[in-house]
Amino acid sequence: MLLINGNLRSLLLVEIVMETLTVTLAYIIVFALGASIGSFLNVVVYRIPANISILWPPSRCPHCLHKLGKRENIPVLGWILLKGRCRHCKTKISPRYPLVEAITGIIFLLVFARYDISIETLGYWSFLSWLLALSLIDLDTMTLPNPLTQSGLIAGLLFQGILGFAQTSQLSGISSHLMTGIIGGVVGIWLFDIISFSGSILFRKTVMGGGDAKLAAMMGAWLGWKYLLLSGFLACLVGAFGGGGAIALKLINRQQPIPFGPFLALGAALTLFCGEAILSTYLHLFFPIALKF
Ligand SMILES: [Zn+2]
Repeated sequence: MLLINGNLRSLLLVEIVMETLTVTLAYIIVFALGASIGSFLNVVVYRIPANISILWPPSRCPHCLHKLGKRENIPVLGWILLKGRCRHCKTKISPRYPLVEAITGIIFLLVFARYDISIETLGYWSFLSWLLALSLIDLDTMTLPNPLTQSGLIAGLLFQGILGFAQTSQLSGISSHLMTGIIGGVVGIWLFDIISFSGSILFRKTVMGGGDAKLAAMMGAWLGWKYLLLSGFLACLVGAFGGGGAIALKLINRQQPIPFGPFLALGAALTLFCGEAILSTYLHLFFPIALKF
């Protein structure tokens, strides 16, 4: 009896150890995948505004143009191995590159932890990668390139179609999901036209660029109109506090234009991870009676 109990216990222990190992391995693979995509995003962010092909030439030192070796190309670790300098000309390589790779890795982990192995995970990995690239380009150049927002919008509609088919395996499922995306896109453009129109009357200058409306349309295609509105609201909230705080701390001055794209992207990310929780808390706080019926 004692022996059986002992055997059972060690079996259970082996099972727990195996499961922990599998989960850890899965997380390491997901992080590595995200970091590699982050490495590609660095290339996209650097080359698209400069109108250089993102496929050719391969990664090289921007100073001496020396092609990076296999080990130097490893995300995050490559930069650490090189101690942040080019192996040939010793020019400093910005810590932004490994940082973007690490952030993309973490984003991939968070999505995987929330949505597990699913079509949503694949979709939101792509969506958030698109948003990260657009945010960084907006911070660098104050523009949101059309090729990126347009391809992101089409990818969003494609995602809706695939999700509709996966959830219902019927044509009607595809069309209803597609409609969600299309309406979201239209609301995106319409909403931001209204905001920038009223802003231009109130402040007598353009508040947001045309790129922001296109980004909002892209977000609407991925999220649908309800979550797009929540993202826009969160973006304004974070923007008002973040921008106000930065002015108060004298990090930026009042005249300095602040790109709105990164705030929109942040709003979308917050909505993806806690949109449902925020919406239900809001409904409980402000419409407790309506919920009872
Ligand atoms: Zn170099």
